[in-house]
Amino acid sequence: MGLQFKAAVLREAGRARPYAESQPLVLEDVTVEGPGAGEVLVRIAAASLCRSDLSVVTGVRAWPMPIVPGHEASGVVEEVGAGVATLRRGDPVVLVFQPQCGVCPSCLAGDAHLCGPGLAANRAGELMAGGTRLVSGGAPVHHHMGLSAFAQYAVVSEKSVVPMPEGIPLEVGALFGCAVMCGAGTVLNTGGVRPGDTVTIAGAGGVGCSAILGAVLAGAERIVVVDRDADHLDVALDLGATDAVLDEDGTAAARVLELTGGGTDHAFETAGTLGAFETAYNSVRRGGQVVTVGLVDPRTPFALDIAALVTGAKTLRGSYIGSCNPRRDIPRYMALYQRGSLPVDRLITHRLTLAEVNTALDRMSDARALRQIILP
Ligand SMILES: [Zn+2]
Ligand SMILES: [Zn+2]
Repeated sequence: MGLQFKAAVLREAGRARPYAESQPLVLEDVTVEGPGAGEVLVRIAAASLCRSDLSVVTGVRAWPMPIVPGHEASGVVEEVGAGVATLRRGDPVVLVFQPQCGVCPSCLAGDAHLCGPGLAANRAGELMAGGTRLVSGGAPVHHHMGLSAFAQYAVVSEKSVVPMPEGIPLEVGALFGCAVMCGAGTVLNTGGVRPGDTVTIAGAGGVGCSAILGAVLAGAERIVVVDRDADHLDVALDLGATDAVLDEDGTAAARVLELTGGGTDHAFETAGTLGAFETAYNSVRRGGQVVTVGLVDPRTPFALDIAALVTGAKTLRGSYIGSCNPRRDIPRYMALYQRGSLPVDRLITHRLTLAEVNTALDRMSDARALRQIILP
């Protein structure tokens, strides 16, 4: 009999809103076996909500059921399995939703974010060593992205955690697992934004605001932020955006071209909508780079003027985890946070208990939060 604790289990995607009433996530008494060889038991200290969690609940992205969501979190190592050499009981860690095996062609090439075995395990809802460790009502429950952090504890692969330095609050550490890499990391790594460059950011949610912080850090000369909500734009300006464009009648990109004399060097889609993608695509100058990170619904029909791609000489890129190598980049970004150059704690807008997770999903659906921290 393993450790028993509370976890937020999703048994069926696609429930109607409001989630505070339909309760797609139910707190269940879950038992965990392990940690097995190469795995650690982590007591979750803080887990934040990301739009990807919402896509699990809506069913926009299909996952094996039942599943415990939650892929942006921090915690403290409670127990290490056989063969774990890099971690000890009591170590504070960030959970990382892309395990890096270290030996596949992508990992060997330095592209840990593209680790093949890590992705395969995630898609199966299992840990790297195969299978699930979670049991509820006598039946197995799947892991979300190798983590399942909407819970009091998690058993995860040693390859799914990065140790945290002293002096960083655990609730801030959680943000580095997704929001920081997917936002700031996308601007710094995937985008390669350099001092003096001009940037459009389409979507000022959690990842978009993280991208603004990345653009400020990179020394971008202009940071034009587009959003459909005036309050979001106020936050964006506060975080360092230089220009705010309210997206109200489909003319946002034209407005960006006008403001910047022909478009920015880079544009980032951070909202996960086709509209934001089109705004980004149409906001870069000729020869500019468009990067998409927001995960648009895969069923969205899409048409691209390929001839204009040619004559505009644009580059179009997808960014997964900001092309980050978590073991290399999380410590670097944490050092920048400690120096005050990457104030990601400003993304935290709410703190709540695990029992309030469905209300938090509603808030995220309505775009009324940047990052909401669950303290289980
Ligand atoms: Zn995420
Ligand atoms: Zn690998």
